[in-house]
Amino acid sequence: MKILVINCGSSSLKYQLIDSDTEKALAVGLCERIGIDGKLNHTPDGGEKITLELPLKDHKDAIEGVLSALMNEKYGVIKELSEIGAIGHRVVHGGEKFTKSVLITPDVIAAIEECNDLAPLHNPANLIGINACTATMPGVPQVAVFDTAFHQTMPMKAYLYGLPYEYYDKYKVRRYGFHGTSHSFVSKRAAEVAGLDLNNSKIIVCHLGNGASISAVHNGKSVDTSMGLTPLEGLIMGTRSGDIDPSIIEYIGKKEGKCLEEVMGVLNKKSGVLGLSGVSSDFRDLDQAARAGNEHAIEAVEVFVYRVVKYIGGYVAAMNGVDAIVFTAGLGENDKKIREMVCSYFGYLGVELDTEKNAIRGKEQVITTDASKTKVLVVPTNEELAIARETIAIVK
Ligand code: ADP
Repeated sequence: MKILVINCGSSSLKYQLIDSDTEKALAVGLCERIGIDGKLNHTPDGGEKITLELPLKDHKDAIEGVLSALMNEKYGVIKELSEIGAIGHRVVHGGEKFTKSVLITPDVIAAIEECNDLAPLHNPANLIGINACTATMPGVPQVAVFDTAFHQTMPMKAYLYGLPYEYYDKYKVRRYGFHGTSHSFVSKRAAEVAGLDLNNSKIIVCHLGNGASISAVHNGKSVDTSMGLTPLEGLIMGTRSGDIDPSIIEYIGKKEGKCLEEVMGVLNKKSGVLGLSGVSSDFRDLDQAARAGNEHAIEAVEVFVYRVVKYIGGYVAAMNGVDAIVFTAGLGENDKKIREMVCSYFGYLGVELDTEKNAIRGKEQVITTDASKTKVLVVPTNEELAIARETIAIVK
């Protein structure tokens, strides 16, 4: 069966058409500037990227553009719409309602709407994508795959904040965690690659991309993760601050004459390694600047790594040990220097990095020596494939 995987943002829509038998992406693409002017990038498997300037006034236009690209005579990959057997949607926030992926029904849509307050930038956009697909492909089953679902196994001691309990009762203020599809996919695969029994294992997954989070996966279940009510908590990221003293918000607001929304904008978009370095949110740029002697770029990387190390250490304590530490996402998969810097802190766990193996990029591999007491691995994430797998499991 062919599964259309959709990741819908407020002005963008990423898609992949995946053949569930071969697990290959037949085409990948991105609609940008929806509601502004519109652009569609489409790449068929083994073919060249095609850029179409299309007037995309809304997400329905975008979906129609995607379908016509998928069926195009020259660069399309299917002949008829009926070849698409199901649609899998990434949905960011499932609150406490969704502990796993579900078939989308009117009740599910209403329940996702109820989570809108928890992810005001993402959930409404995800729903627009779902509604646009319902309008253009009525009758095709759709599945919602939640970023938060995998972390719903976290115990109360890991998800409650030290706040008045009524905020949890009334508003569901608690830690949820994100990147769940990736943490789930990568931890399962890491157990296979490392030769561990997932049901009897302690795995720490470091998803280090522009957005970054770490999870503690005990016997295949998430028991803690670094993001919280929103993706702002935890690690220092490309542009997000991660954990800070909450009093800073008031202090900076007063000093700079900024309102709450403006300070939150700084924490989300102008902080992280971008804010620290003043150079870039991209670690490739930071590396270049650091080589040229930029002190702030060097510091930004050190501060980033230190936070990663503290979370790993915390999760070793939470699980009373660790069998494998796994790196994934853009930075985790590609940056050997960051992996080396992180691993250099874990002599006490018996981590022995194999420098040659650590030189790989974007491939599955154990990067520690055979003698290493704790294994460290690189496992590329594939959230779209994970969404396709979840979708097929539900519609079959
Ligand atoms: P997201 O999905 O959160 O936008 P990605 O997982 O694509 O992020 O990761 C993007 C980040 O990964 C970039 O900002 C960059 O810092 C890092 N990155 C990607 N490729 C490389 C590379 N070859 N070397 C070092 N860092 C890389």
